[in-house]
Amino acid sequence: METLILTKRDVESLLTMEETIAAVETAFRLHGEKKVQMPPKMYLTFEEGDLRAMPAQVGNWAGIKWVNSHPKNPEKGLPTVMAVFILNDPSTGFPLSIMDATHLTNMRTGAAGAVAVKYLAPKNAESVGFIGCGVQARFQFLALKEVMDVSFVRAYDIRSETTENFVNFVKSFGVDAEVAEAEKVCKCDVLVTTTPSRKPVVKDEWIEALHINAIGADAPGKQELEEKTLLRAKIVVDDMEQALHSGEINVAISKGILKPEDIYATLGEIVAGKKKGRENDELTIFDSTGLAIQDVATASVVYEKAIKEGYGIKLRMF
Ligand code: NAD
Repeated sequence: METLILTKRDVESLLTMEETIAAVETAFRLHGEKKVQMPPKMYLTFEEGDLRAMPAQVGNWAGIKWVNSHPKNPEKGLPTVMAVFILNDPSTGFPLSIMDATHLTNMRTGAAGAVAVKYLAPKNAESVGFIGCGVQARFQFLALKEVMDVSFVRAYDIRSETTENFVNFVKSFGVDAEVAEAEKVCKCDVLVTTTPSRKPVVKDEWIEALHINAIGADAPGKQELEEKTLLRAKIVVDDMEQALHSGEINVAISKGILKPEDIYATLGEIVAGKKKGRENDELTIFDSTGLAIQDVATASVVYEKAIKEGYGIKLRMF
């Protein structure tokens, strides 16, 4: 048997957002039904950055993402994040494919945001505010427009050039968009935060949104929302263990302000129908840390399409 090698360009050509959302929604449902395997992430830490291993099994697929984060890499002409994914057949352990997982990660993160909006945001939501306008903001936008009629976008980033570029990106899809102060951005129906901040970037009194996708906090000490916002919201996490350790709630939990029993549900429990999604005019928050099951589900889509469409290089490894 041969192993299929797929580059970032292959993954970009093959994967659509619609397929990614469908695969990620299924992965969340199986997570809610406790039918997946997903041990905690493992870290190697270095002076300059870290490497993380993210293994999981979802249905007939298993695999592992091996991903770094080295903030000073751009000075060396390398990307900050470079992710590789190995997709295995659980029945034999055979490595079916080794593929770039950088684009895969962006797509599956956007898709998780879309699944959260589908189950948690008001049905008539049409405006989206973005705090932080980097890579994840773009993928959140691409995913959200698949599940809601986005008619208007407001955006804020501490780098004005980044905000301008993001607004132009949104406009290129025919969606009305403007640069705004952070406070005004929070007056949209859905708010998306995608900064690497370690202190709140959104004041509780600014928020008029009824749903927040809190995407940026994915490591201990990271936080984008004020604790009072968390205390008054219905919080849905992607995975309880990961969120307590490194999600938007991690700081409030470590200070004892928020307790694990204050968390309403996992997204999977809602997708699986075990808990209700949005019920009334409440504020809902989706705390996303990024799960290995999202990667496995998305990688399986890439692999099956690549085989069908003849992409990649086949190597006999053993
Ligand atoms: P990025 O560098 O492309 O974008 C981050 C943006 O945030 C930058 O444009 C920066 O100028 C802006 N920013 C920083 N501080 C700000 C502030 N106080 N107010 C407004 N804007 C601010 O990075 P990215 O790839 O978009 O990742 C963003 C965050 O999302 C990171 O913390 C990353 O670790 C996290 N992330 C989470 C997941 C997940 O699954 N939840 C997946 C990937 C990345």
